Amino acid sequence: MATKKKTPRRSCVTCLKWFRPHPSAQATQKTCSEECRRQRLLALAQRRRERDLDGHREQESRRQEACRKRRVERGGPGLEAGGPAPMSRSTLSAEVADLEREIIGKLDHEARLSRSWVVGKLRSWLGQIDQNVDQGGSEKPACHAPAT
Ligand SMILES: [Zn+2]
Repeated sequence: MATKKKTPRRSCVTCLKWFRPHPSAQATQKTCSEECRRQRLLALAQRRRERDLDGHREQESRRQEACRKRRVERGGPGLEAGGPAPMSRSTLSAEVADLEREIIGKLDHEARLSRSWVVGKLRSWLGQIDQNVDQGGSEKPACHAPAT
């Protein structure tokens, strides 16, 4: 009786849950689901963009310029041939979306930092309480000055 060999389990790089990769992608599959894969690719793209923000902005502005040029050639709405192209609302919202992503990235970073700060503080406070309990138990924590 031959037992069918199962593919070994792996931990998803996004949600850390265990999963069995598809047999055809055993060596390369890093995420458990399409949603985790989408999140991972988004995070990788954001990291690439952060590493070369100026390069990405330059590329985006070049793409935008080419798009405007094509629209002018087609005689698109609101754009006259010749003269500087007016700032379009779509450009603005793209910039706002960029800014939003940047701010969210920074907030995430701050949240991570403050979480580790809170954990560190909690541990030091809990350590102090432990010491006070060891020294007799009824003493008040050292963080308050004793009443005179
Ligand atoms: Zn996952």
